[in-house]
Amino acid sequence: MDMKFDAQAEGFRAEVRSFVESNLPDDIRAKVSEEEMILPRDMMQRWHHELFKQGWGCPSWPVEHGGAGWSDEEHYLFEREIALADAPRPIPYGVVMLAPCLMEYGSKAQQEKFLPGILTGDQLWCQGFSEPNAGSDLASLKCRAERDGDHYVINGSKTWTSDAHVADWMFGLFRTDSSGRKQQGITFLMIDMKSEGVTISPLENFEGTHEVNQVFFDNVRVSVDNRVGAENEGWGVAKYLLGLERFGTAEVGRSLASLGRLKTLAKTVKVGSGTLLNDSDFMNEVARAEIALRALEVTEQRFLFGPGGSESMGAEASMLKVRGTEIQQDILELAHQALGYHAHAMIDVASPENDHNPAAIAKAHYNFRKTSIYAGSNEIQKTIIAKAVLGL
Ligand SMILES: Cc1cc2nc3c(=O)[nH]c(=O)nc-3n(C[C@H](O)[C@H](O)[C@H](O)COP(=O)(O)OP(=O)(O)OC[C@H]3O[C@@H](n4cnc5c(N)ncnc54)[C@H](O)[C@@H]3O)c2cc1C
Repeated sequence: MDMKFDAQAEGFRAEVRSFVESNLPDDIRAKVSEEEMILPRDMMQRWHHELFKQGWGCPSWPVEHGGAGWSDEEHYLFEREIALADAPRPIPYGVVMLAPCLMEYGSKAQQEKFLPGILTGDQLWCQGFSEPNAGSDLASLKCRAERDGDHYVINGSKTWTSDAHVADWMFGLFRTDSSGRKQQGITFLMIDMKSEGVTISPLENFEGTHEVNQVFFDNVRVSVDNRVGAENEGWGVAKYLLGLERFGTAEVGRSLASLGRLKTLAKTVKVGSGTLLNDSDFMNEVARAEIALRALEVTEQRFLFGPGGSESMGAEASMLKVRGTEIQQDILELAHQALGYHAHAMIDVASPENDHNPAAIAKAHYNFRKTSIYAGSNEIQKTIIAKAVLGL
């Protein structure tokens, strides 16, 4: 596998690097470099507006809708450069998930109403799929949408809804018929979060951050115009949405940035008369993580650019997700170990002995436990791999 990119692609990489260097605000870079994944609304929008002005707000979209018209190499290099530079991840729900569904299944009126706000970043979305008793087994969802003339009336709740507290709209799956197989009778609806009867209840993470919520619906009326696809056929829309992500699943660029921080940390943590760099047991673990990450990098490139390429990933995406999240967690676990007893403090003070903030590192370590649960837990991904690759 030749990992070299041609001169044109390298020119593009340099352009992205220089753009991020000049336009990424310091306060946003600082938050992302502390491994914060979900930023305050204002930060998400400020960075998106910078990208939008450059024509890079929604680069993966078709050009006629405002996409950048990039090649696969350019998409890959863009994702990688913004990750290495500690720029925020793209806002996923509107840009990466809903918009392509609207382009595929939505009406012209829905595309005209919603795509412009997503493109500019002025309108933020959240994803209402999971429920208290429907996560891995998503099709058993029960939150009901009953037809009442030209409206649906929604009752029930969604949970683990990331960003519900900052979003303007939610797209979600709702039960419109319980008579057939559980995958049937599900309808894909878009809901204005300011609708009467919507209550957002924060769920605080173990380390104290507020990223996810439970959202309750009490007789919430949603116009039939806000349905994507046919009634009872939302499962097909959801499957399309869940198969969309191709670039960045493995988060190699982000993990390379974290690994760089881990090495800097090892240099600054004092142990006896030296630093952690002199601790061969610790540094062996760092080397092991780096080797695993480099192997994942090559695997991802092979999937994306190897013979046959990969128009839409199946089990390959599951492999990248499992390995990518395991390595992310290993790196942050090592950073947590490097802090010793300071790791338990989780308070925002710089360590008196060392030049780093143990609270941020400890919080990141705990926060990233989530990555092997969300977007399809790693156990579920392993079942997909077992079926598709091993034929089990
Ligand atoms: C931080 C975070 C953000 C999230 N954001 C969103 C969001 O924005 N929108 C949204 O809709 N959802 C969101 N989710 C929900 C997420 O998709 C679910 O948590 C996930 O699908 C797992 O479902 P569950 O929590 O109900 O666990 P369960 O499905 O109950 O699983 C519990 C455990 O059992 C394992 N398990 C379950 N079934 C099997 C099986 N068949 N074989 C082997 N092991 C199995 C799982 O791997 C897991 O370890 C988020 C979750 C987290 C943690």
